[in-house]
Amino acid sequence: MESFAERWAFIVDACGLRPATAESSGEAAQEFTHVGAIGGVPAALTLLTADPLVLQFQFRTAPGTTGARELEAMFDDIDEDEASLVFADECAVITLYELEPERDAAVAPLMEHAAALLESSGKAARPGCLWCGAIEETRTLYDGGRPTRLCVNCLIQAQAEKSEIERAEARGTWGAKLALPAVLMSIAAGWALFWTLLDVILEALRVRVIFIDHAFAVLSVVVLGAAGYALGRPLGRALHRSGLVRCAPGLLSLAFVAGTAVSGEVVYLTIIIYRMAGIVVPRVALQLLPQLLPHYGGLLIAAKVGFILATWYSCLPAFRDRTIVRLDPSSSDA
Ligand SMILES: [Zn+2]
Repeated sequence: MESFAERWAFIVDACGLRPATAESSGEAAQEFTHVGAIGGVPAALTLLTADPLVLQFQFRTAPGTTGARELEAMFDDIDEDEASLVFADECAVITLYELEPERDAAVAPLMEHAAALLESSGKAARPGCLWCGAIEETRTLYDGGRPTRLCVNCLIQAQAEKSEIERAEARGTWGAKLALPAVLMSIAAGWALFWTLLDVILEALRVRVIFIDHAFAVLSVVVLGAAGYALGRPLGRALHRSGLVRCAPGLLSLAFVAGTAVSGEVVYLTIIIYRMAGIVVPRVALQLLPQLLPHYGGLLIAAKVGFILATWYSCLPAFRDRTIVRLDPSSSDA
């Protein structure tokens, strides 16, 4: 029996496709996505699974294409367990399921037939550059998850725009920088509110000694996790958009979380003093904090550290957010 690698190599070769490095578009080479033109239509092939072999072809269509009757008619005769056709993201997407080795040789002719049907129904992407229509010096690329075709001039311009957008995103906006102090203050206020609420609830329930049993531990983790999530998400987004946390976001965001936690703790102490003495003296709270900290019980310290870690953990995904900038945003981005 033929190996998967041999079958894959045979099929991409028969279809005339090459590895999708998106050339110099900046997208990493994708071993199991190949790109090229099939029957003149920009096309990409992605391996979905190797065993059983499941292949997905994308043919670039004209903007706004939702169907191509001739092509759809072809799939009326094919069992839906064997192949499917959908139109998405300016592409006709054909998936071949559980392809048997003896049918490998039929794949390329089948796809050429599909491309021809798309072409004859006027639903295929127009010839030449998808931006300016130039016929000369065009390149088929894989970009932003689909095949595209641009001329060299448009490609250079599109790459410049793409990297400018990406640089601007990394720099962050002034609005986000200016809004950051307000966000940090709200996070600190959220911290103080959480511990005050906890005090109020424990007082109302007249709980003097907390017994740690299994249910209590689970409940604590859930409550701290939820509160940390509620504070961490907006904090992460605000830090990311400000562009101030670019290198070592993990470490820097931990510093921000710890900083807001300490500020929040000062606010919390201020509230405690107010509830006891009826006066608002944040300066006294600030002075008291270092003296009180060594007297915090183990459970309280664990809870506060847990809250900090939950907040930190929840803010981290924001730094992985990247706007996908496409070289040809002609489309569905709208
Ligand atoms: Zn062009």
